[in-house]
Amino acid sequence: MYYGAIEAGGTKFVCAVSRDGVKIEDRTSIPTTSPEETLKQVFDFFDPYDLKAIGIGSFGPIDVNRESDTYGYITSTPKPGWGYFDFLGTMKKTYNIPMSWTTDVNAAAYGEFRKGGAQNAGSCVYLTVGTGIGGGAVVDGKVLEGFGHPEMGHILVRQHPDDHYEGACPYHKNCLEGMASGPAIEKRYNKKAQDLASEEKIWEMEAYYLAQALVNYTLILRPETFILGGGVMKQSQLFPFIREQFSILLNDYVETPDLETSITAPGLEDNAAITGCLLLAKEAEK
Ligand code: ADP
Ligand code: ZN
Repeated sequence: MYYGAIEAGGTKFVCAVSRDGVKIEDRTSIPTTSPEETLKQVFDFFDPYDLKAIGIGSFGPIDVNRESDTYGYITSTPKPGWGYFDFLGTMKKTYNIPMSWTTDVNAAAYGEFRKGGAQNAGSCVYLTVGTGIGGGAVVDGKVLEGFGHPEMGHILVRQHPDDHYEGACPYHKNCLEGMASGPAIEKRYNKKAQDLASEEKIWEMEAYYLAQALVNYTLILRPETFILGGGVMKQSQLFPFIREQFSILLNDYVETPDLETSITAPGLEDNAAITGCLLLAKEAEK
């Protein structure tokens, strides 16, 4: 019998199966089109396998509140066709087995916590810096959810004194995502983030925003490890800048672990979320 995993992204879905819930034995990548078309391909992938549980880590916002009428739905996404789509319900109609349901970033945090860069830590925050910015956390061995799931990408940040960009977030303009996502960099400089690698000042400014976020998460949660992933974080020169700014902004107010090891790239590289989904499938079965 197999555990199934779905990392449901706005651009692509990654599906995987594993017998032990860790080692991926088969996987596929499906472009995210309409819900019907995309899920048909998901079912085609899983159908040959005898599944005992499925873990889903989805793009959001999603409803994770079990008391809610729309639990298991993707909610207010602008993505055509996906707004208020009953994702979990549609999965359950096809496979009547235990399923876990959380955000893609919570799944990534869980994967890193159990098998990746945070496996020796007691808690972690995973932040993706890509098309959007999103974060998930593992505290007390569990993904963190309250009335809803965290939206760590939309925290409010202080504008850098040299930054005159108004911000790209349709809700808040100059929130963290509005200032530091890949599209925010691209709109500010009229160039793709990946083509600005040699512009040191740009990455110092980017680090200024990301470090503010990590300071805020530190003050609220005191996580032991920060894992930073997503396309923008491929600019690995960001890490020393972020650590430096983080130290300046926190100003020794609280003790933190060694920043070299506690602010790092994903240990599982691009497999953090799919691994987390498999591990969460295993948890759902219990
Ligand atoms: P998504 O967020 O859509 O899942 P990514 O995490 O790859 O996908 O994020 C895409 C964003 O990351 C784009 O805005 C792109 O410009 C930026 N990006 C991708 N690769 C790099 C890179 N090597 N350096 C800097 N930015 C990058
Ligand atoms: Zn915002």
